Amino acid sequence: MTAPVLPIAAPWRRFHLFSFLIDAPELAIVDTGVTESAAGLPAELKKLGKRIEDVRWILLTHGHIDHVGGAYALWEATGRRAEVVIGTSDAPFVRSRQAHVDEALALRGDLVGRETLEASKRAEVLEAISGEFEPTRLVDDGDVLDLGGVAVRVHAIPGHTAGAVAYEIVGQGDVFVGDAVQSYGAASGFPGYEDADAYRDSLLRLQDLAPQRLHLGHPYRRKDGTPFPIVLDAADAAEAIRGSLEREAEIRAAVARAGEGTPTGSPYSPYEAVAEELGYAGDPTLEPSPFFTSLRAYSAH
Ligand SMILES: [Zn+2]
Repeated sequence: MTAPVLPIAAPWRRFHLFSFLIDAPELAIVDTGVTESAAGLPAELKKLGKRIEDVRWILLTHGHIDHVGGAYALWEATGRRAEVVIGTSDAPFVRSRQAHVDEALALRGDLVGRETLEASKRAEVLEAISGEFEPTRLVDDGDVLDLGGVAVRVHAIPGHTAGAVAYEIVGQGDVFVGDAVQSYGAASGFPGYEDADAYRDSLLRLQDLAPQRLHLGHPYRRKDGTPFPIVLDAADAAEAIRGSLEREAEIRAAVARAGEGTPTGSPYSPYEAVAEELGYAGDPTLEPSPFFTSLRAYSAH
């Protein structure tokens, strides 16, 4: 049995988010966007001839706000009948808005200013997260979900976040990775990950998995700055994974050579030399600040 996959745009601010519908006997939505995008989802499903009440699975690739923010609202819209699935280590981000604030402060509070970051994150989680609740199904590597005859295998792909997972429709080659394959980054121009070694290992694992169709949470970019499509064919998928490995290696080398410098007045401080070596001219303070998060990922583990 094959299950068609349909991308659903879930816009929020400057972020181009995407959710996906897996049209299996038991309907599944992969990632939810935020409160605002979840509010638009029933109408999007209707256009596809589907009803939100019939959704039985809400599959979350990881705990970031733009992927889980709408989960509570969607779960309510299904009459609380859908299973809400997330990797065990990222479950705190469904349970608690405060977990998002604490995480941002822990990752880069000392780099971008604690008080400003805390205030902006508090406002953001109130707007973007539709509710706090206990996910109904925590998954780990190797778990298999049954969408009414369509099997979905869970692959642990930590790095972008600790609890990031990929969902593979078994026998079909569709793989949903959220933000785990960033190539040269999204609009911010820098890939974001919390654990550099784990990000690299997970990319190698996805390379072995060789997706026939790779589904991304955002339009990540090639080295030349052009965006990949949201659904990548096998050739584009291989290129995006290769590009991700290549960029991570460049960043790793730049950190090894230039490393953390003494603080300066530069917005890139204390990684001014790394930014220069990598030719990175984006705004490093723009949340969620992949530049600072990823550079910290080389010293924190
Ligand atoms: Zn993310």
